Amino acid sequence: MNFSFTEEQDYFRKMLKEFAKEELLPHYTKWDREEITPRHLWKKLGELGVNGLRIPVEYDGSGADCVTTGIAAEEIGRGDFNLTYAVMLNALIGEIINNHAREELKKEWLPKIASGEKIVGIAITEPSAGTDAGGIKTTAVHKGNVYVLNGEKSGISVATCGDAFVIFVKTEPELGNRGISAFIVPANLPGVECRGYKDMGNIPISRGSIYLNDVEVPEEYMIGLQNKGFSQVMNGFDLSRLLIGLQCVGAASQSIDETIEHVKVRHSFNKPLATYQGVSFPIVTHYTQLELVKWQAYRGLWLRDQGLNHSKESASVKWLGPKYSVDAIHECLLLNGHYAYTKEMPLEQRLRDVIGLEIGDGTAQANMMVIAKDIIGKEFRSY
Ligand SMILES: Cc1cc2nc3c(=O)[nH]c(=O)nc-3n(C[C@H](O)[C@H](O)[C@H](O)COP(=O)(O)OP(=O)(O)OC[C@H]3O[C@@H](n4cnc5c(N)ncnc54)[C@H](O)[C@@H]3O)c2cc1C
Repeated sequence: MNFSFTEEQDYFRKMLKEFAKEELLPHYTKWDREEITPRHLWKKLGELGVNGLRIPVEYDGSGADCVTTGIAAEEIGRGDFNLTYAVMLNALIGEIINNHAREELKKEWLPKIASGEKIVGIAITEPSAGTDAGGIKTTAVHKGNVYVLNGEKSGISVATCGDAFVIFVKTEPELGNRGISAFIVPANLPGVECRGYKDMGNIPISRGSIYLNDVEVPEEYMIGLQNKGFSQVMNGFDLSRLLIGLQCVGAASQSIDETIEHVKVRHSFNKPLATYQGVSFPIVTHYTQLELVKWQAYRGLWLRDQGLNHSKESASVKWLGPKYSVDAIHECLLLNGHYAYTKEMPLEQRLRDVIGLEIGDGTAQANMMVIAKDIIGKEFRSY
């Protein structure tokens, strides 16, 4: 067993920690208040090599391993939780395109994703199919040299700022989830309409619905083989769920660090708050829970780097990472007193933002189903 990071990974963490502290944290609340997606920061992440971590060097990526990608998720999460979507989406979509798309699509999209010039989202969820992703109803019908897409995607991150989406559709509805395929669909194709939501958090991620009305997508935009879309994305979730755990842990750890500084200097009854176990023990509890999830996440990423199965590790991190982080941030808010309840401090926004990823990419129950299937057996699943 070896729990150490490489020298290169340590250097990368140090560089990103500084970047997050100096350039992200001071503006974290600004994009939320002004309801802006800071595209210039997506480009900055491109310059730092963060967008292309899971994209090979030949397509202008950094060709890094999954553990290094986890470091980026955690450290960016300390500065600006919403920018961690760039780490996660680009890693997930970069892998899907690189592993399954044809050469022309890779050449067209991967360098632009790596540089941050283009923002690409992933669209699976529909109004009647979330946890049960195999139940999607959007269809793609082959006509000549195009596929015609019709349907509605809902809850999609970067819906109103995305330049394109990897969209999952039914190409053979009668086959159930074995009839699903994926396409890359530029947002400016005729018939694509994106409408934003008024969300409680993750405002700069501009979540929304995508309406597809007779959208003609060239057949070469299909990613991978027809009807193989479901298995492709399910493997990708094993990566995104580990990254999400670390994104949330980053935001929560930053909150804990800020709170520790606060309770050392804030006094009640002539003593620093930190001297009371009623204050220090909750901090210790959350710190410990976050550490446990963090190391399970790096273990999962390491397993992925070794080509070993990591679905249940990933599901456990996605279930408990956002939950423990929400619990920690909530406690930090209380320990900072009434001022933390104002919009002058970042804690209320972190709470709103991190709650989003208790749902996005699969709820606690969805992830428990994955673990149950593995440790109890798929013959006992109810779906
Ligand atoms: C911040 C955010 C970002 C998102 N980004 C994207 C994105 O980029 N792309 C995308 O495609 N989607 C995205 N989503 C959508 C997200 O993936 C879905 O919301 C999620 O999968 C849950 O689906 P649902 O909302 O339809 O809930 P439902 O599936 O209707 O579930 C509702 C509740 O019932 C529970 N439940 C459902 N089935 C079972 C069961 N069998 N046993 C026990 N409990 C069950 C669920 O856990 C949940 O608590 C995002 C959502 C959020 C909040």
